[in-house]
Amino acid sequence: AGRLKGKVAVVTAAGQGIGRAIAEAFVKEGATVHATDVDRSKLEGLARAKKGKLDVLSTRAVDAYAAKIGKIDILVNVAGYVHHGTVLECDDKAWDFSFDLNAKAMHRTIRAFLPGMLERAAETGATTSIINMSSCASSMKAVANRYAYGASKAAVIGLTKAVAMDFVTRGVRCNAICPGTVRSPSWEERVEELGRSMGGKDKALELFVARQPMGRVGEASEIAALAVYLAGDEAAFTTGTAIPVDGGLTN
Ligand code: NAD
Repeated sequence: AGRLKGKVAVVTAAGQGIGRAIAEAFVKEGATVHATDVDRSKLEGLARAKKGKLDVLSTRAVDAYAAKIGKIDILVNVAGYVHHGTVLECDDKAWDFSFDLNAKAMHRTIRAFLPGMLERAAETGATTSIINMSSCASSMKAVANRYAYGASKAAVIGLTKAVAMDFVTRGVRCNAICPGTVRSPSWEERVEELGRSMGGKDKALELFVARQPMGRVGEASEIAALAVYLAGDEAAFTTGTAIPVDGGLTN
């Protein structure tokens, strides 16, 4: 405990799954955590975090929220959505939505918070940290039926590296985390849904687990552990990386 003491963090999509686990881990490590989600009711029960509604699809809302919160040390972009299907199942609207939520939302929050993060780094002499949730399904690896998802998560790696490069000497680090399959509420829904088309949830579950060489899916806390590391001063020399946490999926 105490690895993030004195740091101020903003986490998007902290209502459930990976975002929530990150918010909880940051609180445990002593950070002041602003936990946000488009669905504020999901934030209930998140102890010792400041809670706020934030829809990352809205530039206006993101700008207003950043103006309200002020300078921060850590920005974690978690909001994302999984489109299921190949290019043939992805019309323009589906493509645009995936890129809006998975990639452009990070552009919005980074633009809004980066000026304050630069100031904060100059004031404290410590680096500030942006962490973007990408996926193994990205430029790292093709996964079946993850056409728009994989393309948008590859964009996340690209924007992560660009930001890291442009601010490498000015105290702002930027890294991406690339999870394999992780248990979360939306993942449970994907299993249910695939199960309906395969004649049983167990069969769908088998398929997801079969993708994982370790023979199990990950837990959100296992992703949060890397986020804690990347957020803090231990990672002061780490920027521009895309790090898989995937039970051997990309090995
Ligand atoms: P999840 O999908 O279960 O929860 C997503 C959260 O995002 C919800 O609380 C929802 O209310 C919020 N959200 C949706 N739209 C939003 C918006 N416009 N503004 C703000 N918040 C919004 O969580 P998860 O499965 O842990 O996924 C979190 C992130 O991790 C996503 O970016 C996802 O692509 C990525 N990821 C997940 C897995 C996995 O297997 N679960 C694997 C790789 C990457």
